[in-house]
Amino acid sequence: MNQNFRKIITIDGPAGAGKSTMARELARRLTWIYLDTGALYRAIALTALRRGVDPADQPAAEELARSLKITALPGPNGTSIIVDGEDVTEQLRKPEVSLGAATISAWPGVREVLLSIQRGLGDEGKVVVEGRDMGTVVFPDAGLKLFLYADPEARAKRRFTELTAKGENVSFDGVLADQSKRDEADQSRPVSPLKAAPDAVTINTTNLSIEDVLQVMVNAFRNRFFCKTDD
Ligand code: C5P
Repeated sequence: MNQNFRKIITIDGPAGAGKSTMARELARRLTWIYLDTGALYRAIALTALRRGVDPADQPAAEELARSLKITALPGPNGTSIIVDGEDVTEQLRKPEVSLGAATISAWPGVREVLLSIQRGLGDEGKVVVEGRDMGTVVFPDAGLKLFLYADPEARAKRRFTELTAKGENVSFDGVLADQSKRDEADQSRPVSPLKAAPDAVTINTTNLSIEDVLQVMVNAFRNRFFCKTDD
């Protein structure tokens, strides 16, 4: 095991639970790097949609994933993704890309391609990584694992606000319906389904402010990294 993987904090949870916001804030507080792994799945989904590859077509999706040169560049505000030399970051948040990512992420061949990229990015440690299987599969030896969740309506409201602020023409009911489809896909896939690691600290963010959640996280970090004596 790479000992630097101990110096990783994983944040998993469903869409809209606050993972991106909280991972960014926690990384800023600790002056660590922040890595959004959903952007990698989104980049493959976007490329599939652009090239007319159906994300539900497993062999075609896996072949596409293996053929791409994908680079992730973590930054303080998000993760930029370069696919075959093109920066696609700005196009990753559209609703059709979200659904495509939830479909394409079921395929083991796609996950395998991204596994090595994600572990490579964690190589130096001091990274806050967010996704669905960070604590269970990608970094099972992470020093601290967090799992965020919230009521479906609260999550959809956050996403609706975010999308309308960007000028997307979406309805609340549409966002809630898309979110339910993604939840179902993420929780039911046989490979790396969304679930909390047994040793994760779980946080219900429904009625908590950003500062509240940050406080819980910082306390968990202090307990784990400074108070434990058994490792
Ligand atoms: O986190 P975000 O909503 O950007 O992720 C988009 C999709 O990518 C998720 O719905 C999920 O299906 C997939 N994903 C995943 N494993 C990760 C991160 C994201 O399967 N570690």
